[in-house]
Amino acid sequence: MAQNQPVERFEVSLNTPAGQCTSPLNVPTGLVPVTALVPSLRRLGEQAQALEERRTVDAGAAISCRKGCAACCRMLVPISAPEAFALRDSIQALPESRRATILQRVTEARTRLEQAGLLARLIDLAETERQLLDDEFEATNRDYYALRLPCPFLENEACSIYEDRPAACRELLVTTPAELCQDLARNPVRPLPVAVRMSTALALWWSELVGGPARLIPLPLALEWADRHAAEGNRTWPGPQLLDKALDKVWRLLSEAFAHQPGTPTGKLPQGPT
Ligand code: SF4
Repeated sequence: MAQNQPVERFEVSLNTPAGQCTSPLNVPTGLVPVTALVPSLRRLGEQAQALEERRTVDAGAAISCRKGCAACCRMLVPISAPEAFALRDSIQALPESRRATILQRVTEARTRLEQAGLLARLIDLAETERQLLDDEFEATNRDYYALRLPCPFLENEACSIYEDRPAACRELLVTTPAELCQDLARNPVRPLPVAVRMSTALALWWSELVGGPARLIPLPLALEWADRHAAEGNRTWPGPQLLDKALDKVWRLLSEAFAHQPGTPTGKLPQGPT
């Protein structure tokens, strides 16, 4: 739908604690669903994160994350509703045999979560109409990580949806030795600060568009959540209006990032894999 529409080009500037970046964004001028803007907004988050990477390297630290290391792909990845719809679209666009393989792994992950007694808690997180606090995710995060359940999109220790992976998966980089990531709960892993958690920005954006809490959906349940809420995912808005509302959330998070200057490990599990 969005591909055939006229687009308007915007220059978007982000002022982050690690510097400033400016990116051109092409936005459809007509009515589009939120998924039309998800790739551009995730790229914007990556550009902000690249500034953090450069600042870290300039300060003499090395980033340990490498292709083939997927230790963090056993964590609970929270994704926003717009990303859940985008993920469903990208899985639906796969050739039948690839799609079947991935859906099989999603089903197996669901079964394992059910056997471990975690499924109902994760469904509650995905469906609640109440705004949850970070601390309310904490116990579920830890129980989930204790399972060491590989992400259903992980294949031979590499992300099989790399171009479409969630924003949270793009934000976790560490400067501590990679071996420490084998036990993220016990080891003193040092993540890079994240100026804009794009999954949070997208969750706030969706909340403003449709009402309800700034919802974060556990990744293994994202496809079924998107199916259950397909009617909401089909809603459309003028593209520039969507961009305005999304940037408002991004800038709000950036102003909070300036208020809480980065660099202090929290002792909490980091929020998502690279
Ligand atoms: S989506 Fe990809 S990067 Fe993210 S946890 Fe799954 S396998 Fe890892």
